[in-house]
This record gives sequence, C-alpha cells and structure tokens, in this order.
Amino acid sequence: MDDSPPPAEHFDVLIVGAGISGIGGAHHLQEQCPGRSFAVLEAQAGFGGTWRTHRYPGIRSDSDLYTFGYRFKPWVGPPIATAPEILKYMEEVIAEDGLDRHIRYGHRIVAARWDSATARWSIEAARSDGGTARFTTGFLYMCQGYYRHDQGFTPDWPGMERFGGRIVHPQTWPEDLDHAGKRVVVIGSGATAATIVPAMADTAAHVTMLQRSPTFFRTGRNAIEIADELRMLGINEEWIHEIVRRKILFEQARFIDRTHSEPDKVKAELLAEVRRHLGPDYDVATHFTPRYRPWQQRLAFIPDADLFRGIAAGRASVVTDGIERFTETGLLLTSGATLDADIIVTATGFHLSALGDIAFEIDGRPLDFSETVTYRGTMFTGVPNMAWVFGYIRAAWTLRADMVADFVCRLLNHMQARQARQVEVALRPEDAGMALGPWLDPEEFSSGYVARGQHVLPRSGDKPEWRHAHDYWAEKDAIPAIDLQDAAFVYR
Ligand SMILES: Cc1cc2nc3c(=O)[nH]c(=O)nc-3n(C[C@H](O)[C@H](O)[C@H](O)COP(=O)(O)OP(=O)(O)OC[C@H]3O[C@@H](n4cnc5c(N)ncnc54)[C@H](O)[C@@H]3O)c2cc1C
Repeated sequence: MDDSPPPAEHFDVLIVGAGISGIGGAHHLQEQCPGRSFAVLEAQAGFGGTWRTHRYPGIRSDSDLYTFGYRFKPWVGPPIATAPEILKYMEEVIAEDGLDRHIRYGHRIVAARWDSATARWSIEAARSDGGTARFTTGFLYMCQGYYRHDQGFTPDWPGMERFGGRIVHPQTWPEDLDHAGKRVVVIGSGATAATIVPAMADTAAHVTMLQRSPTFFRTGRNAIEIADELRMLGINEEWIHEIVRRKILFEQARFIDRTHSEPDKVKAELLAEVRRHLGPDYDVATHFTPRYRPWQQRLAFIPDADLFRGIAAGRASVVTDGIERFTETGLLLTSGATLDADIIVTATGFHLSALGDIAFEIDGRPLDFSETVTYRGTMFTGVPNMAWVFGYIRAAWTLRADMVADFVCRLLNHMQARQARQVEVALRPEDAGMALGPWLDPEEFSSGYVARGQHVLPRSGDKPEWRHAHDYWAEKDAIPAIDLQDAAFVYR
C-alpha cells in the first residue's frame, strides 16, 4: 500500500484568511490578475473573520460601512452595521464574483516553508476533519488579521476560579448564555464593552461597566443625511457610495488634524457631548475623561448614544476602579467596594498574533518577524513573495485592504512582465544606519493589545517607505505611486 502523502496542490497565489481583507483580496486578484490561479485558505468553517468570530449581543461595526465596505461594492444600509449585515454584504461579494469555488474552509495553515531553489512556499494546513493538506504557492497573500481568533485575552485575576457565576469573553460568546434578569458586570471600556453594555441592559437586571480608566466616545445618529437625500433623488448607488465615502473621509481627516492641532478643544467638545446625554450632575470627570489624547487610541462611535441612554435610564452604570480579586459572588475592587454579579464579561481585548501563528521558515531557517523591517506595513525584509494586509486603526480597515490589494496585483503583474520568480524588499545603501523602532509608535497608539504584542511584530524605520503610515490621506497617493523598480525591491 502506498502511504506517501498526497502531492501538494499548487496555486500561483494563496490568500490566508476569508475575512474582509481576504475576500476583498480575492476580488481584486480575480479582476486585476486574470488567469492567475489562487485559493483562499480559512481556518474557520465560514467566511467573515472578525464578523463571524464575534457573536456577542449587539455586535456591530464602529466604522461606517461606506468606508469599511469595499471601494467596489456600494453599501446601501445604515452606516453602522451589525455583524449579520456585514456578513450578508460579504456573502453578496462572494456570490457576485463566484469566489466560493476558490475558498477552502476548515484549513488552518500551521507551517509555511520558503525554498529559494524552486521560488515557492510549501504550505501545511491542519484540516478541521483532522487531516493535513499540503499546497505550494508562488505568493503568500496574508489576510489573516492581527489577532488570534480562537481565544481572547483575559488577564489572570486572583480568585477567578472561586466565582460562582459565569465568566465569558466576547470573542467566545456561549450560545446558551441567557442574561435576562441577571446582574452583569462588563470589564472594559473599549468599543466592545460600549456595545455589549446597552445591548444587555435591555433585559438584564442591571449592567455595570467596570473600567480601569475611561475612553473617549463620539455619538451621533446612525444615518447619513446626504446618502438619504441622494437616494431620494434617485441617484444610483455607485455614485452615492463614492460621494459618501469622500465626504466621510474628508470630515475624518479634518477631525484627526484637529485632534493634533487643538487636542484640548476636541477633548472639551467630546466631553460636552457626554454631559449633554448624562446631565450636569453625572461625574463625567471620573468616568468619561481619559488620560490619553483623543485619537491616541481608537475613538469608539456610539450610534444613537445608546450607551449613554442606558446609563441615563438607570439600566446601566459605570464604575471606574481596579480589580483586587474575584470573589464567590462577584468582584472586590481596589477601593474596597464590591460588585455582585451573575455574569462577568471580560471585554479585555485580544491576543495579537504575528502573521497567523504560522511556523515560517526561509530556506530551512526559522523566521522571526521581529528581526525584519517592514516595507510600508505590507512586505518584510528577507521574506520573499509575501504581503500582509494590516489596515488602519484610526480609519476603516478596508480602505487600506483595497489599496494593498491594488499593490499586490501590480507587483504580481510586474513580476510576470519581467519574468521574475521572486521578489523581496531590502534596505538600500541610503537606508544604512536608519533608526529602527517598534511596528506601531506607542505615542500614537497606546492600546493594550498593541503594547502586549509589539515584540513579535516586524520593526519600522524612520522613512515613509519603511513604516506603516496609518494615514489614509498620505497613503492613498503614496501606495499607487510606489516605484516597483526602486532598489528596495530585489527581483530574481
Ligand atoms: C469586535 C470588533 C469590531 C471591529 N470593528 C471595526 C470597525 O468598525 N472598523 C474597522 O476598521 N475595524 C474594526 N475592527 C478591526 C477588524 O478586525 C478589522 O477591521 C477587519 O475586520 C479585519 O479583517 P481581516 O480580514 O484583515 O482579518 P480578520 O477579520 O481577523 O480575519 C482573518 C481571518 O483569517 C483566518 N486565519 C487566521 N490565521 C489563519 C491561519 N493560520 N490559517 C488559515 N486562516 C487563518 C481567521 O480565522 C479569520 O477568519 C474590529 C475588530 C473587532 C474585534
């Protein structure tokens, strides 16, 4: 009997992940690189990534879908969308483009080995049925996001095992959790906590948001007037999509500029908004006045001010305090106060993952991404035939996913034209001695998951080419203008 492993299947390009980036990447590849064979390998049993993994009550975007949606597919609903609405949008893209036949679900890539002699990656994927699948590819298009999907980050607090109720993380929400009539404590103050609190407050006995420190929030109607007006005028959806995107991006740019040029004024405006919802007697100084600058962390949008309405109605409240330990009945806080709970939700963030927790090797040597330098947050020195989509933190992720897809397609076509089998980025003579720093500047982004995970990520230089700008307005011109003949690109 022949027990040798089945031969590896070959694809010109392998896309890792069927989230918003991977599905978008497949669309662009099909359109801009016709004839190229490709497959999408996805660890989970379906598409969606973030929007499939997270199933907590109220799960929704905090970006508007005109900019979080793809450039090529009009968004026609309210700007802030629920996960099921985003999944439906992605499902339409998959159906319209016939992408289904290219996606392999239940395939978690565990190893990727580059061989310079053949200019190919050999890929090993653990299948959800227990088997192993092998592939080879000329190009790895990494759309695997930035965090582990199987488990969220929960700090190790003393006494957790003694708590008599349920502890749940938003990333692994139990289907059977019934919170009606229960006392709920949500630990955290980011967008996830701010979504869960009002969503659970409708039927829970009471929901307390327990935060170590406050977050900035913006509120507004979940509607875009100009979109509704243009629709009333019978303008086609392609135009509406483009016009609304431009308007939103223009206003966002102005707002971001202001957070840098007049942070105190912006801060005062944001806090005034909170006071308007919670009334003059509410302690905004303690519970809603962050220690960081507006936009040093992602600024969460609260549609229709539902979090504040829940607090004002007494169905939800905020406690700003530390956790000393868990008890049988809830939490003992640093101040000595106690919080009783039936359910404790740990909305405490992610485990950052460097490129999908895959064991990478280059010609037999293990690859450590923290020893590489990034080219525009997309390619890495010494790593051939690979690009990663890491979107924006301050703007919608997908804006960048679309642009990186254009870049990848242009690079693949350029390689074909010059008959190159291999491309990698390398520091040029003029980059010698360039100061290197972490992937994300901690001054600019102080979120916990970034601080915890920077050491596993590639490094950045101090020139625009060698960093991820996180600035849509700079990159929308810079990325299409990348000179593929520049000495930073080494072809073989
Ligand atoms: C709750 C929540 C809300 C968010 N809201 C917004 C928002 O409103 N706006 C915004 O801009 N950003 C938001 N983000 C950030 C968000 O993650 C990104 O915007 C975007 O969805 C990421 O898409 P992605 O396809 O790059 O990655 P992901 O959504 O993370 O998808 C990656 C996929 O790759 C798969 N994968 C990973 N490793 C492997 C492997 N080794 N082998 C095979 N498959 C693998 C995963 O299973 C997953 O399906 C939010 C994040 C969270 C957690």
